[in-house]
Amino acid sequence: MTAHWSIRARLTAWYSVVLLAGLTLFGAGIWLLISHSLRASLDDTLAQHAQGVITVLQSEVRPDKPKHLQQELAEYASATPGGNLIEVLDSRGQQIVASKTVALQEADSASHGVQVRPSGRYRTFTTTASVNGLPYRVLVATPMDATEATLSRLRLLLLWSTPVVLLLASLGGYWISRRALAPVDEITRSARVIGIQSLSQRLAVPASGDEIQRLSETWNGMLARLEAAVKRLSQFTADASHELRTPIALIRTTAELTLRRERSPETYREALRQVLLESERTTRLVEDLLLLARADAGLPSLPLERLELIPLVRDVCRQGQILAGARQLEISAEIPDEPVFVEANDPALRRMLLLLLDNAVKYTPSGGRITLSVDRGPAGATVAVSDTGIGIPETALPHVFERFYRVDESRNRDAGGTGLGLSIAKWIAERHHASLEAESVLGQGSVFRIRFPLT
Ligand code: ADP
Repeated sequence: MTAHWSIRARLTAWYSVVLLAGLTLFGAGIWLLISHSLRASLDDTLAQHAQGVITVLQSEVRPDKPKHLQQELAEYASATPGGNLIEVLDSRGQQIVASKTVALQEADSASHGVQVRPSGRYRTFTTTASVNGLPYRVLVATPMDATEATLSRLRLLLLWSTPVVLLLASLGGYWISRRALAPVDEITRSARVIGIQSLSQRLAVPASGDEIQRLSETWNGMLARLEAAVKRLSQFTADASHELRTPIALIRTTAELTLRRERSPETYREALRQVLLESERTTRLVEDLLLLARADAGLPSLPLERLELIPLVRDVCRQGQILAGARQLEISAEIPDEPVFVEANDPALRRMLLLLLDNAVKYTPSGGRITLSVDRGPAGATVAVSDTGIGIPETALPHVFERFYRVDESRNRDAGGTGLGLSIAKWIAERHHASLEAESVLGQGSVFRIRFPLT
């Protein structure tokens, strides 16, 4: 049930509950304080009253004239407001002054008490005064109506004002939370109309410096990232289709042209060789595309394990020599004496090194030198593939890791490059938490360096 409540309603409910608790505590506190102080002031008045009676007793007792005290006390009582609420008994229990309203016999053993009469409730105070060595019991009382009326007015005020204040404050709280959350509704409305076709739209950002501004900015940041990702994806799809079209068109035209009339077996053989070459290129391209698509989808995960770099680099170096074939290239490995360990995935690391080595072979003219070197620096191991090839222009260097990027269409068309090799190498490096950097001087050569984190 609560799950369907809006934030506004929940905020108001919490606010009202807290306010009710606060008002109740406040009301109870006020009630206790005022009722206690009113009773205390009644008791003070009674104590003063009793003291007055005792003073008369002490000054007017004449053992030889018992009537004298009676007269003096009667005079004192008639001159005092509430004088009919005094009763005094002498040591033998004889009434010296009697009250028609309250009675000493009814007084509790405790000094203070309450006596209920048809005319109202009375607060009583009983005390014993010793005069000339004889105990006199004194009772004074005062009506409680005024105090009780005040307390009952206070009670009414508190009981009525609490719900009224609570209602008004809750309405105010609801209104404030509505106002505060209105921009959130606005964001929801704007966000609802943004679809894949309109990812370039952005939400309005209020310059309020508050959570709402941060929320809109975060949304806009997310939209920008989504837009960039969707753009990359459509670019990738467009590039991939374009790349696939060329070899497929070549295969088709080769077959069509060859089939147009009778040819010699040698021409057929040549055409089939051409078709085979282009099919191989297409297969490679499709495999690369598949790998990158899986990489984009977060698959496959590369399990890393601690492995020794040197034997692996030696193997790759040997494969590079096979790649170079009959070309006059010197391929060597520069390797430290002690073993170097990295956290890596064996087949993926081999693939990355082979991609770099393959590029070095492709872009280094005969007579050039290619070196694979391993270095164990203080920040972690580094593997570098350097060549003395044609190099990469400075302007092209930041783009070589982009998908389908080729420095110059003409220079690697024959070499069969698809422009995907370095993006795959980069992806593999990232999966190893390693960085892949390129340095190059046009006409002199290039170095591709993989820096592994410290293990
Ligand atoms: P390709 O399959 O075309 O080689 P890559 O992604 O492997 O694609 O490389 C991208 C571009 O970077 C290549 O077109 C090439 O021009 C340039 N490049 C890569 N490696 C080297 C290198 N060792 N020397 C010179 N240029 C290179």
